[in-house]
Amino acid sequence: MEYKRALLMSEAASEHAFTSLVLGTRNARKLREMAGLIAPPWEPKRRAAGLAVRSLLDFEEAAAPDVVEDAADFAGNARKKASETARALGSWVLADDSGLAVDALGGAPGVLSARYAGRHGDDEANNRKLIAALRDVPDVDRGAAYVCVLALADPSGAIRVETEGRCRGRIAHAPRGSNGFGYDPYFVIPEYHQTYGELSPLVKARLSHRARAFEHLRIPLERLLTC
Ligand code: IMP
Repeated sequence: MEYKRALLMSEAASEHAFTSLVLGTRNARKLREMAGLIAPPWEPKRRAAGLAVRSLLDFEEAAAPDVVEDAADFAGNARKKASETARALGSWVLADDSGLAVDALGGAPGVLSARYAGRHGDDEANNRKLIAALRDVPDVDRGAAYVCVLALADPSGAIRVETEGRCRGRIAHAPRGSNGFGYDPYFVIPEYHQTYGELSPLVKARLSHRARAFEHLRIPLERLLTC
């Protein structure tokens, strides 16, 4: 434990130079998307491509405990996750808080997206609850937005950049496609006549709420990396 702590402290010292970054999630499917978006293959010259990128899956829970997501909005939770985790690890941390906001449900499930039906991360139960809540809602009123807020904290826990991305769509009556995760099989992009679950991961990586939040992060991140 002492050895691990010393290792983390020495990493913390060198990480002030911002050569490495921890993606603040243990959700493997979200993580795969974030890792692909931080330095996408179609832009190989980005400075971010030189960052050593790890995630919370590389750390024991004792070193970076799960953060209680009790803020009233996505931004509050993203900041909290980034800041608390950065302080715990003494590292730069990029956290994502995201979810689905359905017009006919007054923005629900919103910040409760991951635990809409009660148990955190139970996608099937969450989808069942969503579809039951929209049972009598006609197509025209089934509009929704996926929202993603990214917060980047430096090793002291200070938030250095915050960005938001949104993607509008419509909630289908039945699931379609097996790509993605969470509510993806129900989220239709009208322009494509396909759900996130049907779109190829490459297309999702260009138009999703997360992709848009990463696009807004691009210039401030490159700027920080030149300091
Ligand atoms: P978080 O980990 O607290 O940000 O919760 C995110 C939750 O929002 C996930 O568990 C999903 O239910 C939902 N969500 C966010 N982004 C996506 C996405 O890209 N696809 C599907 N569901 C998503």
